[in-house]
This record gives sequence, structure tokens and C-alpha cells, in this order.
Amino acid sequence: MPEAMVAARASEATNGTAQQVDVAVVGAGFAGLYLLHRLAKAGFTTVALEEADDVGGTWYWNRYPGARCDIQTIDYSYTFDPELERAWQWSEKYATQPEILRYLGFVADRYDLRRHIRFGTKVSAATWDEAAERWLLTTDNGAAVSCRYYIMATGCLSSPKPPEIDGVKDFNGEVYFTSRWPHEGVDLAGKRVAVIGTGSSGIQSIPMIAEQAAHLTVFQRTPNFALPAHNGPRPNDRLSLLDGDRAGYREQARWSMTGVPYPQQTAVSWQLSDAERRERFEQAWAAGDLVHVLTQLWADQGVDVDGNALVSKLIHEKIRAVVKDPDTAEALTPRDHPFGAKRPCLDTNYYATYNRPNVTLVNLRQEPIKEITTSGITTDKRSFDLDVIVFATGFDAMTGAIKAVHPITGRHGKSLSDVWSHGPQTYLGLTVAEFPNLFMITGPGSPSVLSNMAVSIEQHIDWVVDRLIALREAGFTTIEATETAQAGWAQHMADCATVTLHRLANTWYTGANVPGKAQGVMPYTGGVGPYRSICNEIVSRGMLGFRLTGPDVAEQCNDGEVVRLQPDVRLVLGMLADMNLPPIESLGAQGARDFLDEFNKGRPAGRPVGEIVDGTLPGNDGPLPYRLYRPATPGPHPIVVYFHGGGWVLGDEQSDDPFCRDMCRRSGMIFVSVGYRHAPWHRFPTAAEDGFAATRWIAEHVAELGGAPGPVLVAGWSAGGNIAAVTCQLARDRGGPEIAGQLLLNPVTDCAFDRPSYADNATGYFLTRSLMYWFWDLYCSPGDRTDPRVSPLRGKLEGLPPAFVVTSEFDPLRDEGIAYAEALAAAGVPVEQLNARGHFHCSFTMVDVIITGVSGRVRMAEALRRFAGLGDEAAVPIAVAAE
Ligand code: NAP
Repeated sequence: MPEAMVAARASEATNGTAQQVDVAVVGAGFAGLYLLHRLAKAGFTTVALEEADDVGGTWYWNRYPGARCDIQTIDYSYTFDPELERAWQWSEKYATQPEILRYLGFVADRYDLRRHIRFGTKVSAATWDEAAERWLLTTDNGAAVSCRYYIMATGCLSSPKPPEIDGVKDFNGEVYFTSRWPHEGVDLAGKRVAVIGTGSSGIQSIPMIAEQAAHLTVFQRTPNFALPAHNGPRPNDRLSLLDGDRAGYREQARWSMTGVPYPQQTAVSWQLSDAERRERFEQAWAAGDLVHVLTQLWADQGVDVDGNALVSKLIHEKIRAVVKDPDTAEALTPRDHPFGAKRPCLDTNYYATYNRPNVTLVNLRQEPIKEITTSGITTDKRSFDLDVIVFATGFDAMTGAIKAVHPITGRHGKSLSDVWSHGPQTYLGLTVAEFPNLFMITGPGSPSVLSNMAVSIEQHIDWVVDRLIALREAGFTTIEATETAQAGWAQHMADCATVTLHRLANTWYTGANVPGKAQGVMPYTGGVGPYRSICNEIVSRGMLGFRLTGPDVAEQCNDGEVVRLQPDVRLVLGMLADMNLPPIESLGAQGARDFLDEFNKGRPAGRPVGEIVDGTLPGNDGPLPYRLYRPATPGPHPIVVYFHGGGWVLGDEQSDDPFCRDMCRRSGMIFVSVGYRHAPWHRFPTAAEDGFAATRWIAEHVAELGGAPGPVLVAGWSAGGNIAAVTCQLARDRGGPEIAGQLLLNPVTDCAFDRPSYADNATGYFLTRSLMYWFWDLYCSPGDRTDPRVSPLRGKLEGLPPAFVVTSEFDPLRDEGIAYAEALAAAGVPVEQLNARGHFHCSFTMVDVIITGVSGRVRMAEALRRFAGLGDEAAVPIAVAAE
């Protein structure tokens, strides 16, 4: 009965002397083999315990018809030894399961690894011996193993999921699991076959089974996206890139987002015309490469529902073009999840298979399976007589294989299954607090299944084995993640997951495919290259987040969280650091303005709005330019007078263009960005007085500007936030105009530099302390700085309009923003505050690159709408092109 294959086997207690090794490895697949190679080379005694009777891991078990890799084989290979790369040539773009299995056998033989492996041996339990500082692994076959370090190389998709359908045992025909396909093969000729499941395994096997079976009935619960593999010889373009510079190609893969060397796409969907998008899509479709389609169309496809919907729509068209019966085509069309949020598949003739007369698709959403009977499958509507049922129903992914060793008992008798009862908790996906000397290769919390596994496996193993060598050299015998580091990693994982669309699909990525399993995005979504840099940073920061002990050395614990910035903020700051830009304050005022102009030219335009009008308004000493952003929705709309950032020195009415567009769209309000005059040519109080004059003029010309009758609102970022705050005070004191609300984004509110945020964020977060000093010096003499027209915190705060104050954790201006919000509240002003965790001074205005700023801008727009009496629902529903 195949269920025996998926149920845990009873373990036999092992008597006798335990085998003593430095390192025990569980699994002899891609990861286990490379581990054995590295460990042996480093002089560690080692053993691998493998349930199967040969090497291969997932490629040993998954022998179903049509099984192939779906990352191009030249990328899905070991890269640690250039000699190996020369010695093995793949025959196809996507190698078959038998060829990959031969490759792994070849590797095992070439590096003489089989001598370290105990085949046919399942680890039944693992216990940390506190006194001996060793793990004891019991097995179902032969001696237990006592080891200093215990490494799980068990793979992410190796623990099959039970069928969860009543009556399987009653079925009189044959039952197979794609994940446990008989080695001798299965003769399906002339048989009535059912396949349940349309994930990668189903989609690969269905066309092959259809060719053999008399009739194939596919039971589909959720349609999946499948892209044509266009398999064949290895493509020349990728091959010549590899052959041209093998080391460079591999290195690029290691630092890429997915582990496949494709560049980061920068063009966003709304910058491309329909024709340009279609051309990109058709090229990608023709390339037959999952990673290409997932990453190379446009930059927002994986992070924005709008950008993603455009891809889905194009794929829907392809399905309709192939599948002749419209009802079947519709049933095969995925509509319940964004493309890529659930693992898409690579296929050969999948959709065309449904045009065959011997294939029937059963849509389980319309007629769920009631039960499996002696003769076949019964749904709500009908019965199917069958000879064979194939389950392609997937795996208890990521945690299943680890928890299959049960119990894994760490410190204080705690079992890993209990510790993970609400979902896996790890540091880097590699280690778990309270489980010293235990490592997982590509565990939950690492890029793993969202990456080219071959690259991630090598990175993990190199990192782990290098650490074991370093520990040995330093005399340490235990290594353990701290709770702080682990909690910090969970937070960082959650921050990364909010950027992507994975949270919007019920998948095995989130545990949703296994009834009762704790849910949450399990793989690290921050990318392979960023993950690598974090692992390296941990080492360079003295094994941050790990406690190291040894019998003859002092304990070392450099506790902390490795990433406190939002993931995209970290990337942007890293890129800025790599650019090695001169400090802005060293460029001189005009030089700095010119530099910013050039810098902004390289940034993509923001999203379209209804209309943009450039004009001038009369200021105190002559005209001031402005730029008006009008929503596309029917007006009239309330007006927000906006003041750009730039320390009173830099920028103009256009320099915060992406932010103004975004806020105009989200709030459904007109934004009028004012070009106030700048220091040092116009020093204090020019900017403040210009801001006030512009606001008064705009308030008096609302109708002329096409705005809704009623009071205006003000908003500003940084020095612009300062001007907005000051404008509210001046308007109150000078008899108007009436202002309905103020949005202050990272505002300057005070001339004191002794608040902690100035010291905490003095360097490294773009707006530095020395840059702020420079701005102040250019704008305002020390004697004027306590004037409320530049330090509004020192002014009278009663009677001001309601405020929404945004501060960012990694911003020198953070604490004066918080102080202003608190002072406003104390003065009886209705005030809301957003203290943006992990953000820096530019997070919300870098609309095109800091995706984690979206939720903050949503809240800002809601606040503006409330101030204007419009209600706080989103103004502009995100328009998804209708099909
Ligand atoms: P999967 O993606 O989890 O797909 C399982 C399928 O079975 C889904 O369609 C699922 O429907 C359905 N299913 C599960 N339980 C069911 C039930 N009780 N009744 C009806 N339908 C049920 O599993 P997989 O296809 O084995 O693939 C898993 C992963 O392995 C892939 O995503 C991929 O990462 C990897 N893989 C890779 C390759 C390759 O590289 N070539 C090949 C195979 C697999 P729902 O979607 O509604 O849950």
C-alpha cells in the first residue's frame, strides 16, 4: 500500500556502541553530497545517514514520467570545482530525472563519497547531550551516531503529503505517488488513469501519462500557471555566456536575486507601452525559462498586484489560444493568485494535452471529490471508473522532512516540533536557538525554494563548513543562535514577505497545503545575493547573534539583530554606498543642486496622474513656480499645498515628482508642489515666507486651479515638512488661510542637535548629521534658529490644524519629529503619528524603489482624506486591466 511510503516508519531502538564522528549529515542528495565533500576535505570525520539505498535525494525518489529539472541544467549544477564542470556535460537544456541521478552518482564516485554514507538508514530521533556537548542520533538500521555537529540536509520537498481523501485503501486498482514512483516503472498502456493534483509534478507527468493511458482524467483543485519549457539542446546564448567567463557567470549567479545570473530588471510596467510589454512577454515565453519570465519582464511584476496582473493576463491569453474547448480553457486559467506567488511550472505540451480525445479535466472547485471507492473516484456530480490513481498531491514542504526526525530534542528537553508548533523559527534558516550545533541546509528562513537550489546549497554549506573550521581553530565546541537574533530574523523575514506577493496565495510556501499546519511564508523572500551578504556580514561582525563556547576559551556572544532596516532600504543604502558618492556638503550649494538634478534624471518617472500643469504664482518678491498634479478621477478635488525636501537648499517643485504623483493617486487630491526660493541665495526666513505666501494664494484661487471649494491642506517632506508646519502657525496667526490638515513627513522642527537620533543616525543613512549641519548653516544664522518660523517646535502650538506626523527610525530628524507630534498633542491638536520601523529619511519619497514605503503612504493618504472630510478609504482603487 503506497501510504506506507508516506507514513513514518517505526524506529527500532539501537543498542550497542554509537558510531563516533565529528559531523553527522542526514541525507545524500545535492546538499548531503557536497557537505560530505567539504567536511572530508576539511579533515572532519563524518557519516551521512540516508534512507534510500543510493544517492540522489529528491532525484532518487521522484521518478515519475516526465520528471525533469525546471531551472536550466547549466545553472542547476555544482559549481565548486571547475574540473567537475568540464568533466560533465549535460545533454539537454532541462535534464531528465535519470540524467540528474546519474550526475549525482558521478559526483559521489568522483569524490569518493559513498564510503561516508550509510544507505537504507533512517534517523529516528536526535538528542542533544548537554554534558557531552554532542548529539546522539538513533537510527532504524545499525548503530546510533554520536556527533559534535548534526546537519540536516534533508531537502525542502522530500516528505510527501498524505492524500487526505477518504477511501484510498478501498480502491481495488493501482495507486502511485509521483514522489515515490516505482523504480521499475509503471505500465499504463490501455488503462483508465486518474491524476490528482496539478502542481509541477502533475503538470510534468500529465502529458506523458496521456500518451500511454487509454483514458486520463485529471482532477484539478487549483489551476496553476505553466510556461512552455521549449526543451532541447542547451541554448547557445546561455552556454556562450557561461563558456565566455565561467567564473564571472557563476559569481553573478551567487549575487543575483534567484541564483540564476539574470540582471535586476529596472523598468516598471507603467513605463512600458502595451506593445513593449507584449514584446518582452513574447520573448520571455519563447525563451522557455521560468526564471526569465519571473524576473525579466518588468520590475514590479513580483511586488505589485497591478504589474503582476499584466503578466497573468498575457498568460491567460496563451492558455485560451492553445486549449480548444473554452470551458476547459477557463477551468485551466489561474485566477485566484498572482503569477509567481504560487510556484509556477514549466511544461511540455501541458495545455495542448487537454485537446486530446482521451483526456478529461475535472474541476474540483465545481465538483469536489466525495470519496475514492473500490472502482474509482466519486465527485459531487459523477463517478469515474479507474484502473490507476496517481497522486501528485505534493509535500509537507520545508519543515516536513526536518520534523520527520522526531523528536529532535535540544536544550532543556525541548523538542523541535514543539518549538515550531506555531511555525518554524530559525536564525538564517540555518540554526535554531536552544538547538546548539544543529544546522539545516536550505531550511525554512533561507532562500531555498525561491532560488536555484544548487547555488543556495553551495552557499549554505560553504558558510557552515567554514564556520566549523573557524570554531575548531578558535577552540570553540558549541555554536548556538541567540533568541534576539532569531526574533530579529523573524521580523526581517516578515518585512521581506510584505514586499512580495507570496502572502497572497495559498501554497506550500506558506504551509497552506497541509491541513492544520501553521501558516506563514517559510522561505526567505529577500533574495539570494542579499542573503549571502547578510551571512557574510554576520561573520564580519564577530558571529553576530551566535553564542560560542569551548572548554578552554572564554564564551563569545555578540548578540544583536543582523538586519534592522527594511529589506529594500538596506539594498538602496548598499547601492548608494557602492556608488561612493562624495558627501553632498562637499560639493558646494550649486554643485549639490546640479548633482541632485542629474541624479533625479536617472530615476524613473512616477505613475501617470490625470493631469500635470506647470505654472507660476505670485510670491512675496516675484513669481514662484509650481507644479500641479490632478487625479484622473472626476473632480473637483481638495487641494494639498506641497513643499519639497532638500534642506532649504536643494530641489524644486519637480524634485519630489514620484511622491507627488503617488500621493495624488492615493489620496484622490490635487497636489500643488511649490517652488519656494532656496538658501544660500535666499536665507531665512525666505522659504517660510514663500511657503506661507504660496499657500495663501492657492487658497484664494482654489476654483481657478480646479480644486474643490473649502480649505486647503498642507504637506511637506524634511525641510518641506518644516515649511508646512510653519505655514500652519503663520496662517493661524495672520488671519488665514484656513488649513484643514497638515502632513509632516520627516520634518525639521527644531534647531537642537542633541536628541539621540542625531547621534544614532549620524552617518550611514544618506541624510547625515554633517549634511544637516550644512543645511542649517546655509539657511539660518545661529541667532535666528530659535525663531518659530524655522523651529516650529518652539512656537505656540494651540489652535493648529490636525496633523499626521511621520518619522523614520534611521533618520537624524526622528526625535524632533516625535517631539513635535507629542507637543502638538499636548497642545490639544488632533495628531496621529507614524514611527516607521526600519526606514530612513528618503524611504517614502523614493517611491520607485522603496516598496516597503507603500503602507506608510497609504496611511498618509488616508489621513489627508480624513482631514478633508473625504473618509479614509483608498481613493483610487488600483485599476487592473479588464480582459
Ligand atoms: P504541489 O505543487 O504542492 O501540487 C500539488 C497539487 O495537488 C496541487 O494542484 C494541489 O491542489 C493538489 N492537491 C493536493 N491535495 C489535494 C487533495 N486532497 N485533493 C485534490 N487536489 C489536491 O506539489 P508538486 O507538484 O509535487 O510540486 C511541489 C514542488 O516541488 C513544486 O512546486 C516544485 O518546487 C517542486 N517540483 C519541481 C519539479 C522540477 O523542478 N521539475 C518537479 C516537480 C516538483 P491545490 O493547489 O489546490 O492545493
